[in-house]
Amino acid sequence: MKSTNKRWKKRKMMHDNLLEDIKIPNPREIEKELGEFLTKKFGGNVRVISPDSLPEELTEDEVKPEKQKRKKLRFDLKPEDLIEYLNHYVVKQDMAKAALATKICTHFNRIKRLQSDKDNNHNMVGSIKNNILMIGPTGVGKTYIIKLIAKRIGVPFVKGDATKFSETGYVGGDVEDLIRDLVREADEDIELAQCGIVYIDEIDKIAGNRNIVGADISRTGVQRALLKPMEETEIDLRVSHDPISMFQELEHFRKTGNRKKRTINTKNILFIMSGAFGELSEIIDKRLTKQAIGFGADIKSPADKTDILKHVKSEDVIEFGFESEFVGRLPVRSVFERLNKDDLFDILKNPNNPVILGKKLDFAAYDIDIKFDDKALRILSKNAFKENTGARGLISALEGALLLFEKRLPSTDIRRLSVTEHVVLNPEKALIEIESGSDKNADTIFEKLSLEEKAFIRNYLKNNAKNLAEKYKMKLTPSRIDIVAEYYVKYIVDVNRAVEKIKSYHDDIKQIELYFYKEHDINIVMEDDAVDFIIRQLIFTDVEDQVFYKKLTADFELGLKLVQEKTGINRFFINKDALVSPERFISAMIKDKLNKNELIND
Ligand code: ADP
Repeated sequence: MKSTNKRWKKRKMMHDNLLEDIKIPNPREIEKELGEFLTKKFGGNVRVISPDSLPEELTEDEVKPEKQKRKKLRFDLKPEDLIEYLNHYVVKQDMAKAALATKICTHFNRIKRLQSDKDNNHNMVGSIKNNILMIGPTGVGKTYIIKLIAKRIGVPFVKGDATKFSETGYVGGDVEDLIRDLVREADEDIELAQCGIVYIDEIDKIAGNRNIVGADISRTGVQRALLKPMEETEIDLRVSHDPISMFQELEHFRKTGNRKKRTINTKNILFIMSGAFGELSEIIDKRLTKQAIGFGADIKSPADKTDILKHVKSEDVIEFGFESEFVGRLPVRSVFERLNKDDLFDILKNPNNPVILGKKLDFAAYDIDIKFDDKALRILSKNAFKENTGARGLISALEGALLLFEKRLPSTDIRRLSVTEHVVLNPEKALIEIESGSDKNADTIFEKLSLEEKAFIRNYLKNNAKNLAEKYKMKLTPSRIDIVAEYYVKYIVDVNRAVEKIKSYHDDIKQIELYFYKEHDINIVMEDDAVDFIIRQLIFTDVEDQVFYKKLTADFELGLKLVQEKTGINRFFINKDALVSPERFISAMIKDKLNKNELIND
């Protein structure tokens, strides 16, 4: 016994010496060393906190104060508002727009009502969510519509691909990852993430194979993994095997000092599944034919595939290869139409569409101004249509037509490009002509296209003036429409962004009225022509905003106070003429009162 003890002691001594030799640091020392390394590499932006220094997990009650602070979903849209908004961006797809806008609006209005319902009267057990199944070919606006809706409502949006789920073999994991991504999209605001939209594309690829007898395990397995999140489940935001999520946990603690159990509940998360569902039309067709025979009616096959898809029923989707529980959790169906050549042209002409705006920005990156002729856009739509990838074909058609110019022109001093029929049909020849300056009409064509573009935008704004004015709470007079159109062309933004920008200038200018009232008890009213004049100065000249505002207040401050004292006038209407010549404006008022003998004597 004694000898064993001795041996043990000796071994321990050796072990301790060894430890001393290799100097294994304790966790605190590791934290310090790592911290020093990170500071060297990243400055003070990244810090390390060891799990030892984290407090114990808090109970639900203890985390309540932070929970109460969180904001409620601010949402006051009605279905028709949302449809109207979508109409500014999305060409065709009227049925899909109506169904999606209505059901998504209802979904979020229900959440809002629940959140404000203190007595919890509407929290029904087993109520079914408006999860959506979207059916339609590629590039027809499925993702686009949902992204636009999410942006308009102000909820986070994530997109995943169902084929990725089956490939990993880690059933369940990816769905949860996607839901965790919502929290990142919501800037770590879990409450907001819990009202997010999860979009899963290529869902038709996880249909069980109808030709295989018995269950197709991996695909139906993915369907089953989706069932719970689609209804309601709590998902832990920490992924124990994932260092990034552990790091985020530490970061969260560093920022908030809280280490609470962080989960996300999927009850209010809207799931949208989408796919092309190639053979679904045949299944529906077969069913419709069978029914027609059963009723002894004439057998009429609908003219096109989209028409047949509109008749889709749950049983068809089940026949396609989906489990009935899965189909049951997607009560809203929305069918997207194929886009024809004219639709593709309309997309190119839509002043809010990112395809043309994106290309303009590509050239603007080299200070090259590019204008498109309608005939050229027609050819591009025709070429895109041949690709059979919906509006996605437009991007490749445009790239194909303009790559040569995008490569060459930046190295020349040419800063204007008119994309005409000739440019699209004979790019090499057109480039030689442009470079050699042999086309004497080049400038005239460019000016003509510029004027046409401005006129088109003006017209678009005029047609939508009522809605835009209501939405942005700003008058859209002809003069203001001109400003928006010029802003749109100069800064290459979509129309809504242009109106938004003019509105923000408009509101800043209105602040001057408030300033005069608060500081000097003087009521000034900035007339529309004055507001437009100032906006123009701020946007289209090099003057600095602050310098301009300072000069403007200085021009009027003393003068108006003097007029107020001398005449008793307390309300001033400032128009453009007054802005151009403040002295004349002020002295004219004093003269007027003097002539009428109405000056106040000191
Ligand atoms: P998918 O139907 O495959 O989800 P997307 O919605 O991603 O296709 O479309 C790709 C791009 O094509 C969009 O970002 C948008 O610019 C354009 N686009 C597609 N459909 C439409 C449409 N109906 N109206 C306007 N633009 C569209």
